[in-house]
Amino acid sequence: MTFYQHILLAVDFSEESGHIKLKAAEMANKFAAKLSIIHVLDNIPMPDMNYGTIIPLDYETEHALLEIEKNQLNHVGEELNVPENQRWLIWGNPKDEICGLAEKESVDLIIVGSHGRHGLALLLGSTANDVLHHAPCDVLAVRLPK
Ligand code: AMP
Repeated sequence: MTFYQHILLAVDFSEESGHIKLKAAEMANKFAAKLSIIHVLDNIPMPDMNYGTIIPLDYETEHALLEIEKNQLNHVGEELNVPENQRWLIWGNPKDEICGLAEKESVDLIIVGSHGRHGLALLLGSTANDVLHHAPCDVLAVRLPK
């Protein structure tokens, strides 16, 4: 049996995220693994930043949407007991940043939802599909209840 040591949960804050969060918590618990979380900012304009910019969670901003995403990520972090230095908010393309972080942080399991904000009409959501094809490690695509 494979024992995962570092699990990365990718969250998009869609309504379905609750189910995926529970699964990630269970997996981390089962394997006594380190759990990190990532949210990639892909839906708000950030013209002054390069793709791949990590936004520190104590970064003061008047950008209302960025504040909302920061708070949502912190909320998930608190719920799952993820330490602040394992909560990642990154500006960029979800597939690139999720797979890039997994590589950089020696993640051995990425958890995504089978569908999220981009993929409700598809068999497998677009981000889920991209991550499955490019991840440097195992990927668990959690099937969401209909
Ligand atoms: P999608 O394929 O875009 O429908 O989303 C499927 C899953 O990919 C979601 O349930 C999340 O786990 C992950 N995901 C999608 N977009 C993002 C994002 N911007 N940041 C982090 N994870 C994401």
